[in-house]
Amino acid sequence: MHTAPESYRCLPVITDSPLCRACMEADETPTHVLLQCRGVAEHRAAYLGSPALLPEALGDLGGLLSFWSELGWLE
Ligand SMILES: [Zn+2]
Repeated sequence: MHTAPESYRCLPVITDSPLCRACMEADETPTHVLLQCRGVAEHRAAYLGSPALLPEALGDLGGLLSFWSELGWLE
C-alpha cells in the first residue's frame, strides 16, 4: 500500500543534517527518529509509546508535536 506523501510534509525539515543529532549513529529520517533512535527513546516512549510503524507514530499528531517540541528540534 502506498503511503500518502502528504503525511510527511508536516514533519520538520530534517534533511540538512544527514546524521541523527540524537545518537549520531544513523541518518536522521522520520523513520529512524520515530521508530528506531536510541537517543530519543525516553521521550519517544513518553509521548508516542512504542509505535511499530511510521503511520502509527504519524497518526498521533499531538504526541508527535509534543515529542518534537520536547526534543527542541522545532525551530
Ligand atoms: Zn538517532
